[in-house]
Amino acid sequence: MANQDFSLIFERGKKGRTSYSLPEMDVPEMDLDNEFENCYVRSDAPDLPEVSELDIMRHYTGLSRRNYGVDSGFYPLGSCTMKYNPKINEDVASLDGFSHIHPHQDPKTVQGAMEMMYDLQASLSELTGMHDFSLQSAAGAQGEWSGLMMIRAFHEANGDDNRTKVIVPDSAHGTNPASVTVAGFEPVTVQTNENGLVDLEDLKRVVDEETAAMMLTNPNTLGLFETDIMEMAEIVHGAGGKLYYDGANLNAIMGYARPGDMGFDVVHLNLHKTFTGPHGGGGPGSGPVGVTEEFVSYLPKPVLTKKDDQFVFDYDRPASIGRIKPYYGNFGIYLRAYTYIRTMGAEGLKKVSEYAVLNANYLMRRLEKEYVLPYQQHCKHEFVLSGKKQKQLGVRTLDIAKRLLDYGYHPPTIYFPLNVEEAMMTEPTETESKETLDGFIDAMLHISEEAKNEPETVQEAPHQTVVKRMDETTAARKPILRYQK
Ligand SMILES: *Cc1c(COP(=O)(O)O)cnc(C)c1O
Repeated sequence: MANQDFSLIFERGKKGRTSYSLPEMDVPEMDLDNEFENCYVRSDAPDLPEVSELDIMRHYTGLSRRNYGVDSGFYPLGSCTMKYNPKINEDVASLDGFSHIHPHQDPKTVQGAMEMMYDLQASLSELTGMHDFSLQSAAGAQGEWSGLMMIRAFHEANGDDNRTKVIVPDSAHGTNPASVTVAGFEPVTVQTNENGLVDLEDLKRVVDEETAAMMLTNPNTLGLFETDIMEMAEIVHGAGGKLYYDGANLNAIMGYARPGDMGFDVVHLNLHKTFTGPHGGGGPGSGPVGVTEEFVSYLPKPVLTKKDDQFVFDYDRPASIGRIKPYYGNFGIYLRAYTYIRTMGAEGLKKVSEYAVLNANYLMRRLEKEYVLPYQQHCKHEFVLSGKKQKQLGVRTLDIAKRLLDYGYHPPTIYFPLNVEEAMMTEPTETESKETLDGFIDAMLHISEEAKNEPETVQEAPHQTVVKRMDETTAARKPILRYQK
């Protein structure tokens, strides 16, 4: 299959084949040329493939089988939380009362939908220890930006105009420094120490009266819990800065620890990760932002509140950073997150974190026998291995990732975070069984043996897929999305 001729996959037309038959015409015929003075009538027929209905069916079914997703196999893509999305979420989201409402409807006629959003805000506040939430932002990155804009508004309201810098650890998710820049601040890097945690001495060095905030993920992108978080909060707050929590992944700590109790002022969560909104392929996402009481007046508007037993959208918020999303955000994802939270319950969410952490540690301890584990302590929901031992044999981490495809697994996140050489960032999630984890471990151990005994097999992988190694940048930047003969 490897070097298959693409025309055989995509070119299935044969002159004269059709997939439809129109009913007899029962309206008067019209001369389009005359009616529209020729301007809408094309002079030649479109050059489309001519195929039978069965050909079309097999074409699209075949393409769908080549797609890989959580519903078809293990997907340990670190920092992405590719967990199973329960199908009951879809049942609830497709109920007529939710799927047929319109954002222009009078709020009085959609009180149930607003109550669901209000309750979701309350659940997220409870889970994170925040005072209030806005659901509007449509992605983690937009949540980060909204949060930073609130921090900017807060400092400006206090006449504190010189706070231009935001501290970001060198292991941070790429969206963090990007959001900092888009929000008009300057990112300042704080180093990671030999234990994979923020270096407190370096933090003391970079924090000053220009610090607007520090952004932090906890557990961090190495999957390690920042045990010095209370001290960090003291250092940043002591200098007049605020603490921003990147809660894209809350999988490790639900029911056990809350950013609000760690001293964080502003938080975002990714409903499409921890809270089982289906993701991948670019959306739709949802990155709600939570705040402590002193930030409530800056929340994006309209703010969903309750007045005299009615749910209302409050637009009268003069200090608000404004509207950041048309209408009320990605409502369908709220429904899935709400259904998930209600079906799991408080105890269930705690179990989620326990199993997420257990699965990650099980994988990590079995894989460290063959792959370098740069930080030795127990991990939380994910961990980072280094492929540098295999690299010495001429097998790079990219080769290992490609070889995993032959074994039927989606690879981990590779070459991220940047502070680990030949990084493989692995997040099994709580929804996988021990048998699945064992299968993946076997594949990884096999590949490590192959790297020693037959490195070409790994270097030339994948061998089983429809296409081999692609130019991924061009594939992402210039995708071919329509039929071209
Ligand atoms: C996924 C992720 C983000 C970005 O979220 P998007 O919804 O993709 O914008 C930010 N931070 C961390 C730690 C993440 O894992």
